[in-house]
Amino acid sequence: MAAPASPDSAATQRLVIENCAIATVDAHDTEYATGHVVVADQVIESLGAGKAPEGLANVVRRIDGTGHLVTPGLINTHHHFYQWLTRGLATDHNLFNWLVALYPTWARIDAPMLAAATQGSLGMMVRGGVTTASDHHYVFPRGSGDLVGAELAAAAEIGARITLARGSMDRSEKDGGLPPDFAVETTEGALLATEEAIDTHHDASFGSMVQIAAAPCSPFSVSTELMRQGAELARRKGVRMHTHGSETVEEEKFCHELFGMGPTDYFESTGWLGDDVWMAHCVHMNDSDIAAFARTGTGVAHCPSSNARLAAGIARVPDLLAAGVPVGLGVDGTASNESGELHTELRNALLINRLGAHKEAALNARKALRLGTYGGAQVLGRTAEIGSLEAGKLADLVLWKLDGLGHSSIADPVTALVFGAAAPVTLSLVGGRPVVEDNHLSNVDEDAIARTARAEAQRLARIAAEG
Ligand SMILES: [Zn+2]
Repeated sequence: MAAPASPDSAATQRLVIENCAIATVDAHDTEYATGHVVVADQVIESLGAGKAPEGLANVVRRIDGTGHLVTPGLINTHHHFYQWLTRGLATDHNLFNWLVALYPTWARIDAPMLAAATQGSLGMMVRGGVTTASDHHYVFPRGSGDLVGAELAAAAEIGARITLARGSMDRSEKDGGLPPDFAVETTEGALLATEEAIDTHHDASFGSMVQIAAAPCSPFSVSTELMRQGAELARRKGVRMHTHGSETVEEEKFCHELFGMGPTDYFESTGWLGDDVWMAHCVHMNDSDIAAFARTGTGVAHCPSSNARLAAGIARVPDLLAAGVPVGLGVDGTASNESGELHTELRNALLINRLGAHKEAALNARKALRLGTYGGAQVLGRTAEIGSLEAGKLADLVLWKLDGLGHSSIADPVTALVFGAAAPVTLSLVGGRPVVEDNHLSNVDEDAIARTARAEAQRLARIAAEG
């Protein structure tokens, strides 16, 4: 995928940011203590130390970035937007007990609920510096209408790039799975609907705002047939593949009992390892599992807060990175990470991994920032467009305010961003267009989103209580 030729027509509009620190997260981790970024239409035209070049034409906006750090926009690689309506429930459960407690409520979701949840989940992340987000949606109750269309329309209003991982479940209790029978689709129905979502919405072009992935939910909620055929469908269509893997010891036990092998071997046997696949969690991986991911280029969405919330364990991120496995960060659904923010996951990834085997050498501030930016672009297959600040790439970037109370006494800006409090976002751009200004969403009314989300959460709770 090639970037369009450098824009240089009379209609080209330029935005200039100056006097800011810059962490490019390029291959050399290039940083500028005081530098500039020039955005031309949707791409980064130039960046570097000192002031912007003189004599630029059509500069429509010039921003003084004094006291700020510019980074690539954050990229969220795993979420379940719909869970925005079921936050704060089953707060003291492990994964399987939490799922069993919440499935009956989730199975009542409809299009207006999903739209409200999408704006809540996505709005919260975008306000905190996310410019590209992946959502794994796998609950499609019968008769619930066009949920994929409803979600994408709601997301478009906020203005971030989306990879919608069209999920599915077809292994219910009667087949030895975890979800109740009424919460699942048929195998054929799930495959047809996934293909339809790809045909209708997937855009592979440079600067695409919407991509679709094929995403059966997990080994304990999906038949082997759906895993196999889902992989075939994705590869026939040229889209990426996503699922949950190796999240808990209970899942590992389930795989051994049902399939006679661990999760990674099961994924390999069903076509689910490859450089077009990324998997959420990957907590319980032995050395040969990690080697298999590295050999095949399979990516990982690391979700430290959710893993802690559900007592799942600590993923071996330093070992994954050392083996060459692409690793991005994920919020995970907000029913298991109520804050729903990705910038705090930079910090949590660093802190939680230091509790593992590698101790203080596990991750540092720059590696954490890389996970949340370039690593995310790797697992979503978009490094040619996003994930680092380089001339010719899309102008997806965040201007973090670091001269306020929370950060002003931390000299190094990347340390301030990762180790410090969640930093305010003065400006966030997606393809050169603002999605956040002065710490508020640019394109939508946050109070209206909050009101609608509360009303839809109450409606969902009422319908679920009625059974
Ligand atoms: Zn998840």
